[in-house]
Amino acid sequence: MFSYTRIILDNTELSIYQRGLEYVNKKKVKLTSIINNGCQATASGSRNYEITLGFSRVGSPKYSCSCPYFSEHKKVVCKHIIGTSLAWDRSRSVPDPDEETLEVLCIPEPIFSHKDINEAYNNPLTANLDVIRIAADESGWSRPHAHLPIKPQVCNHTTLELTDINKGISELRAWARKYNFDPYFCAGEIMAGFCELIRFTKFKFDTLNLDDKIKATVLLANFHHELIMEKIDDSEGLHEFSETHLYDLVSELTNNQKLNQTQIKALELIKHKIDDY
Ligand SMILES: [Zn+2]
Repeated sequence: MFSYTRIILDNTELSIYQRGLEYVNKKKVKLTSIINNGCQATASGSRNYEITLGFSRVGSPKYSCSCPYFSEHKKVVCKHIIGTSLAWDRSRSVPDPDEETLEVLCIPEPIFSHKDINEAYNNPLTANLDVIRIAADESGWSRPHAHLPIKPQVCNHTTLELTDINKGISELRAWARKYNFDPYFCAGEIMAGFCELIRFTKFKFDTLNLDDKIKATVLLANFHHELIMEKIDDSEGLHEFSETHLYDLVSELTNNQKLNQTQIKALELIKHKIDDY
């Protein structure tokens, strides 16, 4: 006897499996018709949904549910389908999959939820940068691509000099030349690395004199422009991250210092560079 549940587990998230199991144990799934290689059921909850399980002519599993989750996540199994599948298997005396099978076959849970991702985009300055490092990998499909370091090495220095900014930027440029660097799938990682460099600069900012602070910000703003325009595919809107971090440096300069005309002009140029695309 085959386990239909086992067959569809590789399209099932573990948390959905657990909810489907709860569903069938609470007797919320009613099998309405059973044939040789398929079944139909009604799942009752706040609303009733219709579920059909079976196989296509070439023998791959074919299933559907009338619930909104299933229609939105095309082909990804919902809790009603799991509930029905377990009920159908049990009706044929097929045991539920064991823990180990579930661990191996189910789709791994996303590390960050949509909520985490939205929160990071809403507050780039304080965001956990792992969210953008990982987001592209979580999009469900991915090409082989380089895995980049967390941050440029200069960020581990105890002091900051202007030359460190240049070194950090050179490192980031070298990341983008790596074999297998992918402008889309590596975009989050390189952007996170760049934001680490800006955060490090901000952290050590007061150890620089005013002119060096401005020069540092110019270097970073120029690289920001280069990164967005030449190095990455910015279809996820990652520029928000470096942009916000750079404006934070700029506001540090405009708020706290007595600036002369040349310096004010330099800051205007920096601002222009930041959103020039
Ligand atoms: Zn459903």
